[in-house]
Amino acid sequence: MIIVMKSDANGDQISAIKKKLEELGCVVHVSNGENHCVLGIVGDTSRINEGQIEAEECVDMVMRVQAPYKRANRLFHPDDSIIKVDDQTIGGKKLAIIAGPCAVESEEQLITIAKDVKLAGANFLRGGAYKPRTSPYAFQGMEEEGLKLLLEAKKITGLPIVTEVMSVELVEKISRYADVLQIGARNMQNFDLLKEVGRCNKTILLKRGMSATIEELLMSAEYIMSEGNENVVLCERGIRTFETFTRNTLDLSAIPVLKKLTHLPVIVDPSHAAGKWWLVEPLAKAAIAVGADGLEIEVHNDPTNALCDGQQSLKPKKFVALVDELREIAKTQNRIV
Ligand code: PEP
Ligand code: MN
Repeated sequence: MIIVMKSDANGDQISAIKKKLEELGCVVHVSNGENHCVLGIVGDTSRINEGQIEAEECVDMVMRVQAPYKRANRLFHPDDSIIKVDDQTIGGKKLAIIAGPCAVESEEQLITIAKDVKLAGANFLRGGAYKPRTSPYAFQGMEEEGLKLLLEAKKITGLPIVTEVMSVELVEKISRYADVLQIGARNMQNFDLLKEVGRCNKTILLKRGMSATIEELLMSAEYIMSEGNENVVLCERGIRTFETFTRNTLDLSAIPVLKKLTHLPVIVDPSHAAGKWWLVEPLAKAAIAVGADGLEIEVHNDPTNALCDGQQSLKPKKFVALVDELREIAKTQNRIV
């Protein structure tokens, strides 16, 4: 961190700021220039309240040279994190293919889809039991009944379960059924929820908020990791832009950017990015081509009667064809499906 003092800052003011920072455990180098005095701060600056420093009348500006996230930062953990879930991994050579319906709707629906996606090559089953819906009148999910069906599908297929947790109160219950807890886009900055899942022993799939910057996503991962849970997978699922043709705009550049900034695995959800089933295939391919560690894709056996997100769900046959095509693209990235 660099602090530029105002040109009229006096020696006492400079010493006071220096003392404040040293009390936080930092080493402060003072450089007296012709017009400005500049303080170079070395050490762990994560506890410095930038706003307090900037509020000092003798301070001209404060610049961070290092990212505010530490545990998620590749700088301190150069190797890719490979997260183990049952006998599957996320972040290794093998791509993580998470597939299944937006919402669990019935035993028949879930088991049919689970078998289909497993046969196609998926290694995780997704399905929402508690759904974050824009309208309070829309289907809200089967709740605990849905969790029981997910567990049944796991018993049949062996696929680990990914499902969303929307509130602090539900973390304990959902942890009893699921292998990966998904934090949805709308909850990316629900800090109490992030801290709670940071204290559980499940892998967390953290989706990017629809208006969140890459740094905000990484700070949310930092919240989880700072509580002790280092098993965090990031998910780009499209952000809100001025474009309305697609449900969101898939930020493909976020994938190589995140891979540069963090050691955490990064996957892509083309379904919620696109909002249209026919866009899922090209976006999924593009995601793997730019280095994503996996995909989360909505698949439904009867999209026209789906209770949630039928418009963006692939039929099992289309999903099979997509996974086959992904095998070729994966090879270009030295990955396998
Ligand atoms: C979902 O995956 O079911 C979902 C609601 O996604 P998002 O939080 O990205 O909108
Ligand atoms: Mn959905």
